[in-house]
Amino acid sequence: MNLHTPASRALALRKILSTYGHQYYVLDAPTVPDAEYDRLFRELQLLEIEHPELQTPDSPTQRIGGKPLAAFQSVEHMRPMLSIRTETDTTASGAINFDERIRKELKLTELDAFIEYVAELKFDGLALSLRYENHVLIQAATRGDGQWGEDVTQNIRTIGQIPLRLPADAPIYLEVRGEVYMARTDFEKLNERQRARIATGDKNEKIFVNPRNAAAGAVRQLDPTIAAQRPLSFFAYYLHLAQPSHDKSIVEVANDGQVPEGITTQWQVLEKLRAWGFPVCKHTELVTGGDGLVVFHKKIAELRDTLPFDIDGVVYKVNDLSLQNHLGFVSREPRWAVAHKYPAQEEITTVQAIEVQVGRTGKLTPVAKLAPVFVGGVTVTNATLHNEDEARRKDVRVGDSVVVRRAGDVIPEVVSVILEKRSQQSQRFSMPSHCPVCKSLAVREDGEADYRCTGGLFCLAQRKQAILHFAHRRAVEIEDLGDKLVEQLVDAGIVNTLPDLYKLGLSALSQLDRMAEKSATNVLIGIEKSKKTTLPRFLFGLGIRHVGEATAKELTRHFGTLDSIMNASIDQLLQVNDVGPIVAQSIRTFFDQTHNREVIEQLKSCGVNWQEGSASFGTTLPLAGQTFVLTGTLHSMGREEAQAKLEKLGAKVSGSVSKKTHALIAGAEAGSKLEKALSIGVSVLDEEAFHELLATHSSYLN
Ligand code: NAD
Repeated sequence: MNLHTPASRALALRKILSTYGHQYYVLDAPTVPDAEYDRLFRELQLLEIEHPELQTPDSPTQRIGGKPLAAFQSVEHMRPMLSIRTETDTTASGAINFDERIRKELKLTELDAFIEYVAELKFDGLALSLRYENHVLIQAATRGDGQWGEDVTQNIRTIGQIPLRLPADAPIYLEVRGEVYMARTDFEKLNERQRARIATGDKNEKIFVNPRNAAAGAVRQLDPTIAAQRPLSFFAYYLHLAQPSHDKSIVEVANDGQVPEGITTQWQVLEKLRAWGFPVCKHTELVTGGDGLVVFHKKIAELRDTLPFDIDGVVYKVNDLSLQNHLGFVSREPRWAVAHKYPAQEEITTVQAIEVQVGRTGKLTPVAKLAPVFVGGVTVTNATLHNEDEARRKDVRVGDSVVVRRAGDVIPEVVSVILEKRSQQSQRFSMPSHCPVCKSLAVREDGEADYRCTGGLFCLAQRKQAILHFAHRRAVEIEDLGDKLVEQLVDAGIVNTLPDLYKLGLSALSQLDRMAEKSATNVLIGIEKSKKTTLPRFLFGLGIRHVGEATAKELTRHFGTLDSIMNASIDQLLQVNDVGPIVAQSIRTFFDQTHNREVIEQLKSCGVNWQEGSASFGTTLPLAGQTFVLTGTLHSMGREEAQAKLEKLGAKVSGSVSKKTHALIAGAEAGSKLEKALSIGVSVLDEEAFHELLATHSSYLN
């Protein structure tokens, strides 16, 4: 068969659209984005218009939805549940086109009045028909193939927003139609739960691709107890008088036989629905003419990302119901309504590479490099895969065709892989064992999702962060070295690693932006001053993961010298107060990186120095295991000095009083901490008593 004839193309399109339709409508598991489906659908529609002889009764352009699932009881709809014509021109012209079409159908001239429309949101959920008899909900059905739907009453009863009973002024036999959907936050929570279940080995669970797909899965869930755990919401938008289920020959007749008496417009339909307790979306407007539609389309486009649920467009409906009747239907769609779409938020593209990026803090993030694709209003070339678990779960591989999503300002992400298009040679992605920037070991700690580079001092990706941390007031403290300056020094290639700071000269510094000679001199003085430091400050400044100020002090107290810390085994590190297995491992791994050791050596040769102490392990310090809290003003010394003395004696200094506090040292004007200590019976030392305590242990303080 010649693959390029219109007949063969139509056949191929029908085949692929039927497959996609089955996956979407019947299995609730689409494999391609809607934009792709819509493109192929439109292509087939155009082919069939050009070559009417190619149209077949089973063509997807002639059918609605998918066959109902046999697992549910089938329900025949009283009147067909139709689709809506889609306006694919996502610009303002889409709205104008619709208005012009309607005016043409109604043979209106330019002199005739504007038409009134109800402009609604196009909720991305699934259509539902609700039947009430004697004011009680008796049946809920999906759209199915438009004529036959599935009886999902049990599941729908669990949706709190759907009234089970209507007020007395509602008709005895009524059908309400609307959209059942899942709010975005509920969708996120559901997928989080699904992920947790999958992680514990539950093979029956899956991650849902999007809220629509999750809502469809929940509505068509065979087990109502599971359906009840999946939070669904509902918006009503149509109502009709219904036939009684026991006798289809009786129809409650009013007006044109479709809506209750007194209702003549779609706007009144919505008001009535609201009055009877149905949720009706507040972003619904009565507008006039094509211009009114354009304004609404634009307004909702701006609102779209802030809505708590997904929409894929807006729907315009002729307001006057008698005009609707006059306009009637074409095959599967009413003529009086149109769905005006927004630019797609999901598109297909291919993965050209998977790169691992290293963040300022050493975090490794796998990123898919994509063939450029226009999605969510911008051209996207990168999509984060977040971390190892996400990359594995999605199993994205180089060469894959993937669905990329970009909604609002959210970072683009790969939603799924189109497995049918995967090449047999493709390779599973795995995280590198070493940092792609500095080649130091990359580690993932227990309970953490991210891999991290352990070459904190050497890694170029982390240098700005490392320099700022080292220069911090509580580390070696380099006055006047702020983030703007570090940014400039690094970007200009003047400082690459910490020792470069100590090689800076006046000429290099004063060349930088907004750096007068005076400020440059101040920076150099700050750098010079920082050379004389203490071991805890230096250790803290190295930026070893999990080693904060307190741990740096404990390490110093325990080992006394940097060399002993650098050479300590995990077991020896575990002896240190407050050091557990994760911290011990982190310290060990840091010092095992040759590059980190080299940087430390260079810093020492640049003149960074401190007074080394002696190891305290083996000897017990007098206040070991005791926690003190300082409050109020001490006249004889500052808070930091008092803290340093207590720590030297082995005590821990905490910021708040609790039952575990050994004593509160209260200076002048002590306030709430003193009250708390007294109320829970913690002993209190005034300044004099504190001095006595220090004097008792003065031999440890010299
Ligand atoms: P539709 O979803 O485009 O439009 C009709 C439906 O719109 C109604 O049944 C109703 O459920 C819904 N709707 C939402 N808000 C409404 C409102 N305010 N008033 C009235 N109706 C409202 O029609 P369709 O023919 O069921 O499906 C086509 C859509 O499904 C397209 O967007 C297509 O991309 C998507 N689809 C995707 C795939 C895929 O593989 N990704 C396959 C098939 C269909």
